[in-house]
Amino acid sequence: MKIRTRFAPSPTGLLHIGNARAALFNYLFSRHHGGEFFLRIEDTDRERSTQQAVDVIFDGLSWMGLDWDNEPVFQSTRQGRHAEVVQELLEKGQAYRCYCTPQELEAMREKARAEKRPPRYDGTWRDRDPAEAPQGAPYTVRLKAPREGETVINDLVQGEVRVANAEMDDLVLLRSDGTPTYLLAVVVDDHDMEITHVMRGDDHLTNTFRQAMIYRAMGWELPRFAHLPLIHGPDGAKLSKRHGAQSVVEFRDEGILPEALCNYLLRLGWGHGDAEVLSREEQIDLFDIDGVGQSPSRMDYTKLAHLN
Ligand code: GLU
Repeated sequence: MKIRTRFAPSPTGLLHIGNARAALFNYLFSRHHGGEFFLRIEDTDRERSTQQAVDVIFDGLSWMGLDWDNEPVFQSTRQGRHAEVVQELLEKGQAYRCYCTPQELEAMREKARAEKRPPRYDGTWRDRDPAEAPQGAPYTVRLKAPREGETVINDLVQGEVRVANAEMDDLVLLRSDGTPTYLLAVVVDDHDMEITHVMRGDDHLTNTFRQAMIYRAMGWELPRFAHLPLIHGPDGAKLSKRHGAQSVVEFRDEGILPEALCNYLLRLGWGHGDAEVLSREEQIDLFDIDGVGQSPSRMDYTKLAHLN
């Protein structure tokens, strides 16, 4: 099997080093196995996506020496295909139109708050006869998520992770303005691009369970997942401005060299990189997923400076 990975950033800000590390790991993993590495710009959120942020991603990856195969895919150009898949799910009875008004949805959230539980869609239109739908009213399309059993992911970093399906929601696939949601778009694009391995931050783990439900509803094979532990500040708290630089642009502007940053990011969360500064060829030669650790990484700015 040819390994095919991707880096799929949303162009909404600076290239965070957590994302840069995901890009590096995906790149090294595919190159190590003689596979392919793709870039997909996830610009479905038109309001938050900017051309400037797209340029920052291109520049940042080039600066780090991470070249991708083929032309980058812009997710927003694939909306027709996303809508097609939603139509297929509707036809298969795996999805349904939901006509709940914003007020009704807010009432559900209110009820959940009062009962001190996470908000969930109550399934009103899941069970209702579509013939009762108000004529011409806006609707969203929701996945008919399984209510029984468990969703199990055999993660290459986290091991076996599972969730009870009863805890999951009938997630929205298509918004009332006809645009696809992020959860749907990622699944369709990863499937169509024949991605074999999805390596990303472990803050995406809950999304992965939901995406697995979309794969199953379509009868598609799941890629292998590898969820990378997040990078924390030196004090163990979420990395933030008060710790110092946190994006590729900031490190570059501070005079950090790309070789130093890449070597440091490799040491953050990958077991074999401690010995010395590795050349790109050595990184490709040595890197594999089984060296990626499970515990959160702490950013140590002094060690990074030391590598420079
Ligand atoms: N676009 C997502 C992000 O920037 C990443 C999605 C993914 O890797 O699946 O967080």
